[in-house]
Amino acid sequence: MSAENELLSVEDARARSLALASPLAVEWVRLDEALGRALGADVTAQRTLPPWDNSAMDGYAVRSADLLSPLPVRLAVGEIIHAGEMPEVELRPGVCARIMTGAPLPVGADAVVMQERTRAIASEGAEGPAVEILEAVPPGTFVRPRGEDARAGEPLLARGTPLGIPELGLFTAQGMLTVPVPRRPRVAILSTGDELCRADEPPEGRIVDTNAPSLALAVARAGGIPTLLGIARDTQEEVSARLADAQGFDVVITSAGVSVGERDFVKAALHEQGVEMNFWRVAIKPGKPLAVGRRGNTLYFGLPGNPISSLVTFELFVRPVLRKLLGHTDVEPARVSGRLDGSLRKSAGLAHYIRVAAIWRDGELWARPLATQTSGALRSAASATHLLHFPREASSLAHGEHVVLLPVSWIA
Ligand code: AMP
Ligand code: MG
Repeated sequence: MSAENELLSVEDARARSLALASPLAVEWVRLDEALGRALGADVTAQRTLPPWDNSAMDGYAVRSADLLSPLPVRLAVGEIIHAGEMPEVELRPGVCARIMTGAPLPVGADAVVMQERTRAIASEGAEGPAVEILEAVPPGTFVRPRGEDARAGEPLLARGTPLGIPELGLFTAQGMLTVPVPRRPRVAILSTGDELCRADEPPEGRIVDTNAPSLALAVARAGGIPTLLGIARDTQEEVSARLADAQGFDVVITSAGVSVGERDFVKAALHEQGVEMNFWRVAIKPGKPLAVGRRGNTLYFGLPGNPISSLVTFELFVRPVLRKLLGHTDVEPARVSGRLDGSLRKSAGLAHYIRVAAIWRDGELWARPLATQTSGALRSAASATHLLHFPREASSLAHGEHVVLLPVSWIA
């Protein structure tokens, strides 16, 4: 068995990471703070909406049975009902009501004929106003039925439902000002490396820590609350001390120092801090050294140090976990299908995630691999739109082949 066979597959690694997580405690937040989060409890409707059958068109409310005679049918026009008014009289046979979009249907009416299918008739003396209806309509035509949106006492939306704008609109219509959602995960981010400095320091032979600020943006975009813990030097004591200080977080992310280098102390430090390691090393490029574990209710991710490796492993492993903590049920990375604009080769053993720029051309999504695929070059991700999944056992992908693309969450 080669060493690479002992590596976890990406799918298994994600499943094992997700198994460590469950949705966080529910809090009630204002609707504008709930956008993009998942509902934390089943919600029952308090109001029936719409409260009455109402018109979907400007036109005439009719008894559909009145239109069974040869067309056009002439009907007397009773009252005019605008949106915001209640009808006052029941519709008798041979009579219709002028009605505007959103106005409640009068008792007796069962359909609406749109204005464009009618011809108004000038009022003639004592007979009052009338209209010619040019088409027959079945019952229910252009009627928005009572309770179409919600029925009081019945389920409105289920726990786990992602809260987009229409869902929040439903709550607004119910008069709900707050909704229950799992609270946002608190995420600590620690950079490790003797070579690192902050962006506001003179480098003096060091390189700027880009991972922590990048991961903080990715965490925030995924719905978490990031806290930067700064830079730890490459000693087990310092990494361990920083981890010990990181209390009260749901997730702790470290970057770098997780491989087999002489100064890679993250795993030892996690162990020293009592973190139970779940796995280490995944059959993936970029990002093979990756450590995941748990202590109490805190999950630990030791991400690799190369800037692209940390971003890719965040996408594939951390983001799904943050989504699960946030109560989402659909946590797998999104995928779309495209075609390869180029050709790719590799040896079997690791799944590769290739940075591509995908564009819509001739009715299809074409994915062009970016020229640079080294995991150290941030520039190579600058114009990437997706990660192309080059499966573990595959060794070549030909031009035009259908490929699986993962939209990345880091793009503008
Ligand atoms: P390591 O995993 O410690 O061997 O680091 C792998 C590579 O990632 C090295 O070239 C590091 O200099 C680089 N690196 C590590 N941490 C960071 C960071 N926070 N920001 C940018 N590059 C980093
Ligand atoms: Mg290092």
